[in-house]
Amino acid sequence: MLNIVLFGPPGAGKGTQSERLIEQYGLVHLSTGDVFRANIKGETELGQLAKSYMDKGQLVPDEVTINMLRSEVMKHENPAGFIFDGFPRTHAQATALDAFLATLNTEITVMLALEVQEDELKERLKKRAEVSGRADDADPAVIQNRIQVYNNETAPVKSFYQEQNKFTAIDGIGTIDAITERLFSAIDSI
Ligand code: ADP
Repeated sequence: MLNIVLFGPPGAGKGTQSERLIEQYGLVHLSTGDVFRANIKGETELGQLAKSYMDKGQLVPDEVTINMLRSEVMKHENPAGFIFDGFPRTHAQATALDAFLATLNTEITVMLALEVQEDELKERLKKRAEVSGRADDADPAVIQNRIQVYNNETAPVKSFYQEQNKFTAIDGIGTIDAITERLFSAIDSI
């Protein structure tokens, strides 16, 4: 299996690039943010809980997120692989993902980390707010909080994969096509 962690700060382009990658490699796209938003829309109990964190730009608790991720993975029979988008976001999530994949006799192949500086992220999120309808994109204070949570809790997850020699940084600045090409060539050289 080809299992990719597509990593990067809010607004780095993970969702956009995931669409290109699933098409090219036949992978299953698993975005924790998308699953939470679908639950909010469906007014489930999980959605209600997730919303209370997401609206403030905080992380949904690890245990809830990890359980949700596991059940999403189990929905797929014989997948070619997964793109994990927005997961793992904490060290505990990364450890849990490794343990879980081991029970399925598979593992993470690579973490591809999109690198974009903070000014550009804020610009992109501001633009996205006009079309996404996402409450967490509309409020600059919430955006600031998400970036801070990323820097404090999520960015350290890089070293987890660096220690396993599975980390590749990708320049996330440029046209969407140019960035897709960088991702393809990183994957094709594995
Ligand atoms: P972005 O990367 O643009 O912030 P996402 O759609 O990935 O957007 O995530 C939106 C929100 O969903 C996060 O701010 C967080 O509240 C919640 N969330 C998504 N993935 C996770 C995760 N792995 N752990 C905890 N919370 C998560």
